[in-house]
Amino acid sequence: MTDRLYYHDSFLYDFDAEVREVTETPRPALILDRTAFYPTSGGQVFDTGWLVVGENPSDSSVKLRVSEVADADDGKVVHYVEATKDFKPGTRVHGLIDAARRRDHMQQHSGQHVLSAAFIRLFNLPTVSFHMADDYCSIDLDTPTLTKEQVEQAERLANDIILENHPVEIRFVAREEAATLGLRKPPKTERDELRIIDIRGVDISACGGTHVNQTGQIGCILLRKTERTRQGWRVEFVAGQRAVATARRDFTALTDAAALFSAHIYDVPQQAHKALDEMRTLRKQREQSQEELAAAQAAAMLAEAPEAGGRKLVVRTFADRDVSFIKLLAQRLTRLAPNAVALLASASPQPSLVFAQSLGLPFDMGALMKETMAKLGGRGGGSKEMAQGGVPGGDGLEAALKEIAARLVV
Ligand SMILES: [Zn+2]
Repeated sequence: MTDRLYYHDSFLYDFDAEVREVTETPRPALILDRTAFYPTSGGQVFDTGWLVVGENPSDSSVKLRVSEVADADDGKVVHYVEATKDFKPGTRVHGLIDAARRRDHMQQHSGQHVLSAAFIRLFNLPTVSFHMADDYCSIDLDTPTLTKEQVEQAERLANDIILENHPVEIRFVAREEAATLGLRKPPKTERDELRIIDIRGVDISACGGTHVNQTGQIGCILLRKTERTRQGWRVEFVAGQRAVATARRDFTALTDAAALFSAHIYDVPQQAHKALDEMRTLRKQREQSQEELAAAQAAAMLAEAPEAGGRKLVVRTFADRDVSFIKLLAQRLTRLAPNAVALLASASPQPSLVFAQSLGLPFDMGALMKETMAKLGGRGGGSKEMAQGGVPGGDGLEAALKEIAARLVV
């Protein structure tokens, strides 16, 4: 078993060790006799850093990047590296932990203990799991309901506890003794000896993770999104520098939004609401104008269209009207006149065709559209009275309309 130095000191960022095993498959990895690297477990993610041989860490030939650290089943800690190079069993190495990453993990994980304790103390809501991601963390609470007020109260109490700067103590106790300590949740492990994290006066848990020495080192805790899960409620949070970075990102996003409205950041929701209302009104007005325009244009087109065989044939390609407008126009044309056939095309933005006939005329617009689409490589169809299709390019639209018009006149 690897001697886990982080069990006793979470602030140990460098250490000396000896290589015990070197493996190449499935990935290059080293096992040491002792390590300060934390392997992923208990919701906390692994440390990264370097393993160095010799006295000169700036010499890249003797420095290995540790990209991931994992727990093996036999109690060993596996350090994944890009290549094992000249490392052999017996090689003396110096380990360097990425301290900024470790500090962040300590703030998140210790923040979780404090937050879980706050939910217990205030509402007796137990935490069933903890998850740490790259940008935020979350706990799952076993509860059917969770209100905004509860979230705010838990956040307030957690920050009070941080501010009170309680000592965080690590000790190892026998299983029987642990049972008398009033642990926040029963330990998962079957081990005879348990590692206890005691946030004095706040929380006692069995945990193998890395924690701060005083709650003040957590800095602060910020609760974020809450969402219903299958078994309860999930509460996202960020602690310490991560909370500051998140607040900074929020402020930047809000400031950008406020600049768009030339408004104060706190007025952004109201301004956005107003803008959406205006957009809805404008959309309605536009629809109405389009209807009116289509009606007027349809009347003018019918007046100009020649009558052949008792039918009015309207054939037209529009350069700058979209398909929804030419559809509207086709509807108007075939309703205004009892004997109209409309063959319309829109060249942009999406080349499209609309065929329509007044109710009771003998042609089949759907079949004509299918046939045209097959020729032009597009997709579309419709009913006997009205059909619509889209084609990949505008070339050939006019020729296709002319060809169909010639057939309908005959
Ligand atoms: Zn812990």
